[in-house]
Amino acid sequence: MIRGEAFPTPADAVSIAREEFGLTCRAERLQGEVDRNFLLVTDGGDRWVLKISREGMDVQALECQLQALRHLETSPVAHLVQRVLAASDGRRLVPIASGDGRPCLVRILSYLDGTPLVNCSERPVRLLEDIGRCLARLDLALDGFDHPGVHRDLVWDIERTHELGRYAEHIHDPARRELVKRHLDRFRDQVVPRLGGLERGVTHNDANDHNLLVRSNGEENPVLAGLIDFGDSLHTITIAELAIACAYLMLDREDPLAEAWHVIAGYHSVRPLATGERSVLFDLVVARLCASVLLAAQRRHVEPDNEYLQISTQPVWRLLERMTMIDPGEAVRTVEDACAPSSTPARSADEIVAVRRRHFGFNLSIAYSEPLKIVRGEGQYLYDEDGRRYLDLVNNVCHVGHCHPHVVAAARRQMAVLNTNTRYLHDNLAEYALRLTGTFPGPLEVCFFTNSGTEANDLALRLARAHTGSKEIIVLDHAYHGHSPSLIEISPYKCEGPGGEGLAEHAHKVPLPDPYRGPQRGPEAGEGYADEVRKAITEIEGNGRELGAFLAESLISCGGQIIPPPGFWSAVADAVHAAGGVVIADEVQVGFGRVGTHMWAFESQDVVPDIVTLGKPIGNGHPMAAVVTTAEIASSFVTGMEYFNTFGGNPVSCAVGLAVLDVIEHEGLQQHALEVGNRMRDGLRELQARHPLIGDVRGLGLFIGIELVRDRETLEPAGTEASRVIDEMKARGFLLSTDGPLHNVLKIKPPMVIQPHDVDEMLEALDEVLSALA
Ligand code: PMP
Repeated sequence: MIRGEAFPTPADAVSIAREEFGLTCRAERLQGEVDRNFLLVTDGGDRWVLKISREGMDVQALECQLQALRHLETSPVAHLVQRVLAASDGRRLVPIASGDGRPCLVRILSYLDGTPLVNCSERPVRLLEDIGRCLARLDLALDGFDHPGVHRDLVWDIERTHELGRYAEHIHDPARRELVKRHLDRFRDQVVPRLGGLERGVTHNDANDHNLLVRSNGEENPVLAGLIDFGDSLHTITIAELAIACAYLMLDREDPLAEAWHVIAGYHSVRPLATGERSVLFDLVVARLCASVLLAAQRRHVEPDNEYLQISTQPVWRLLERMTMIDPGEAVRTVEDACAPSSTPARSADEIVAVRRRHFGFNLSIAYSEPLKIVRGEGQYLYDEDGRRYLDLVNNVCHVGHCHPHVVAAARRQMAVLNTNTRYLHDNLAEYALRLTGTFPGPLEVCFFTNSGTEANDLALRLARAHTGSKEIIVLDHAYHGHSPSLIEISPYKCEGPGGEGLAEHAHKVPLPDPYRGPQRGPEAGEGYADEVRKAITEIEGNGRELGAFLAESLISCGGQIIPPPGFWSAVADAVHAAGGVVIADEVQVGFGRVGTHMWAFESQDVVPDIVTLGKPIGNGHPMAAVVTTAEIASSFVTGMEYFNTFGGNPVSCAVGLAVLDVIEHEGLQQHALEVGNRMRDGLRELQARHPLIGDVRGLGLFIGIELVRDRETLEPAGTEASRVIDEMKARGFLLSTDGPLHNVLKIKPPMVIQPHDVDEMLEALDEVLSALA
């Protein structure tokens, strides 16, 4: 049959599908660079892609593609590749007459559901590893496949990249032209001679970000859904497959080597890379980038009006220029590192518990009666060894999300360049000191860097003593400020608990300013609790001593997620200053935008402390901490004795600290904390209306407490119920814990990247758990 002029129309596709393949379907046009493509949807809802080749198509190459796909149909990657539909007569490539009567070839392949990777800006580590693993499985599955069509001259043959030098003249920018020429010369002279001994086989040869399809597997965990277009498949060095995928996956990524690292690690876990393959991998990435810009330049020469060619090569140029700057040693180390076996043997949870029991400090409990072995974190989620996902609702250390790529990249980059101490000049230290103090109100302009919250608080005590000449300190009941002797003895949570030796003589405690359960409630509570501080000052002075400092968390975590009543902090600061003391605000848990309205929690309490201590979130898990104070107090500390801290303020820590500040700023996390925190509290209050067990819902931003009580009048604490809730929530994939002197407060202080849908899911689960408990 000779078809109409406008061939092929969707109607042509429908009739070909029916006449040749026996499919009853409708058709719509799909984009295609070479073939004319149609999406077919059968009456039963099955989807296929009908592909009509152009005249003059290489028939052998087409047959080869179909043979390769058929070969893979029974392989472990069958689900990732398109199935080939046989025509009614058994053929898979069917000749038909086109509009002008010339023959062309038709084939029908299954439709793979998925989004091209190029459209996915979020590329979690798991996805990258999955891509690596799938490509390795593909290469293994193609082992044993052969066809005359894969032995051919192809411009995209990576081994012959240097032969594309003839197109360099079409690169207009002289610097870029020279850059490519240099790479090609190097490739010919130094890389090609090393390719001879490498394993060879049939490869897909074009796993670019348009050909890799991604699908979410329901839990927002994207996985590789398919690899399309076997049009460039070739018999070549097998490692070309991975190199080509890496080249495209690295485009426009913040830390391209880190991106490649995960793909390589995934690939290597399935098809271990030989030494020779490792050493040339990034050379091949560069070769592919060169081929890409050269062939685009050549095409632009032929089609000068094709602007798309100009735009689409920009990311390739950017990566090529970046790769030129990267030390080849670092690139090779990246591959070696990705291929290195984990130096830690994997042990079962029971075995680890046994090792801990014998060889690890004995006085530490493990979270949950059935301990968790968490092996990976990403954003607001943690994953156990079985791949089970948990929403982390308590970890305020991994503030901007577990393993945030920007923070990881900053640490990795600086770690590979230099790590020293603060006795040398370093840009990171200067920049971080400026950026950090820039977030504080005026007088707080001097910082000291330490390695933990304890060290920060210990240093704060020394600063206060140097400035006031007094050790006398007022602390809140049930407070915790650190694990050194200087802090244990002033932390009632520890020194008045099991094994404690009581408060130090110079420490004076005042009641927790708890407006829900404490002795002072109602509108006067702030003044009432401040009175307790005034009384303590009078007592100290009555003993002929002077006040040194008042130390408290701006919002109280350890004491049960308490927001002090209005007026408390400012009245306390006035009284402390009047007595000649200094105010130390411990922001180890509550700082860095968590309260939503402000960067620092003390700002929400209408007070400006004299000394502020920072920790946990400051390095997103990297051990660092800081003290920020006034120039006056810092001057009092100049006693002749130096303050030096080996690790504090080192270039890596400062790089990490800067990256954390970047993320908070760029991702608008403070505002996000406000919005998501409000959503959570609104939802919790709604639960409170239906569940009598919820006595109080309180908090600011993503610092939230839920106090459970058996009786809303007597406030009888529901400690056992709180533990049950924690266990039941864990079973449903939500990690929570309790806090407060009566262990009846559910504390919520998640990584700040928690999303509204996480909140909704958490509320739903909590509703279920509370209903079951009732
Ligand atoms: N201050 C507060 C309020 C804390 O919660 C903690 C730790 N839980 C510390 C200080 C001590 O910090 P680190 O464990 O980093 O020494």
